[in-house]
Amino acid sequence: TRHIAIVGCGQLAQMMAQEGKPLGITFSFLAEKDEDAGCVEGLGTIVRLDEAGSDEDLFQALGCPEVITAEREQVDVALLRALQRFCPVYPDPHVFEKAQHRLREKRALTESGLPVASFMPAQGRDELLNALDKLGYPAFIKSCENGYDGKNQWRVKDATELQEAIEEAKDLPCVVEASVDFSCEVSLIGARSASGEVKTYPLTENLHRQGTLLLSKAPYQDEQLLASARAYLQKLMDDWDYVGVLSVECFVTSEGLLVNEIAPRVHNSGHWTLVGAGTSQFANHLRAILDMPLGDTDCPRPAAMVNMLGVDRAPTGKNEGVWLYGKTLRPGRKMGHVILVDDSSEELAQRCEAMIADLYQQ
Ligand code: ATP
Ligand code: MG
Ligand code: MG
Repeated sequence: TRHIAIVGCGQLAQMMAQEGKPLGITFSFLAEKDEDAGCVEGLGTIVRLDEAGSDEDLFQALGCPEVITAEREQVDVALLRALQRFCPVYPDPHVFEKAQHRLREKRALTESGLPVASFMPAQGRDELLNALDKLGYPAFIKSCENGYDGKNQWRVKDATELQEAIEEAKDLPCVVEASVDFSCEVSLIGARSASGEVKTYPLTENLHRQGTLLLSKAPYQDEQLLASARAYLQKLMDDWDYVGVLSVECFVTSEGLLVNEIAPRVHNSGHWTLVGAGTSQFANHLRAILDMPLGDTDCPRPAAMVNMLGVDRAPTGKNEGVWLYGKTLRPGRKMGHVILVDDSSEELAQRCEAMIADLYQQ
């Protein structure tokens, strides 16, 4: 059997393991000292970082995997590099180094020629004041590290809000970004195998609520935007010698796409592929890192996903699948998601609206 170790124990690791089982793949999971591993219990061995000895001991404890991957960008890059002596790590640690730090990420995107919003690095009061002076209001201040689901970032619309953000950001290294006037947000997810085969899914339209993804709908029908998103994804994959699933989040503007950020992993906006695509993003990530032929990414019907944020009660409306991750309920926490598929995108949009009302009792 083929054995993979995943760094991280959340729902993304859970779904990779669930999708890997029919492929005959076994798993182990690397957890931080206090990481909640409830999502992956029963899906493979869980190894605690603080309990492992040398790098070689850790590799052994993980069951001598054929390949190591991760479900999040906040990983110990030095540790991944050390483990690379024993087996391939995909995507390569240099990608995590970029993706876990917004300034390095923005610079890498720019170096590959991808368009991003105007940005400036800033740390501390003086530099933040200067950056806002140059970029103007409204703007986004984002901490370089530990940003996800809209956490550790501040949207400032005037000088008063800037003062508040300065208090909170303190001396954290940040990136200040001009606010983008977008009509909507889209993402493109694709996989590249170790031998270079690439497949992409349709463009997905994403709706956020308080910085967290609420709804994803595919396909977003725009051939020109799809072509540019594919070109951006391919460019990054080539420049980074990428292996695995890569996700690119973009803003749709009157001048075309602006890239917001990338995720070197399976992505929340691709969960609908579990039902709506020939092969899910999870299965294709595993295929890519094991250098198997990629599975079919065709999507015969419009599909959507509604996140269950701080809700763990199954919805009553018609749906094509409910995933519950088995986590402890906390306000706003990603507890699960619902997938909807329909023949008509208009019908699908209406059903999504009703599903959101159903889940959140609006
Ligand atoms: P994720 O969970 O997607 O990793 P994150 O914490 O990394 O989120 P971003 O994706 O950078 O944060 O921002 C979250 C959301 O905030 C975006 O999806 C978008 O709706 C809004 N946003 C961020 N930056 C900008 C910007 N420059 N202009 C306009 N809106 C923005
Ligand atoms: Mg992010
Ligand atoms: Mg984002």
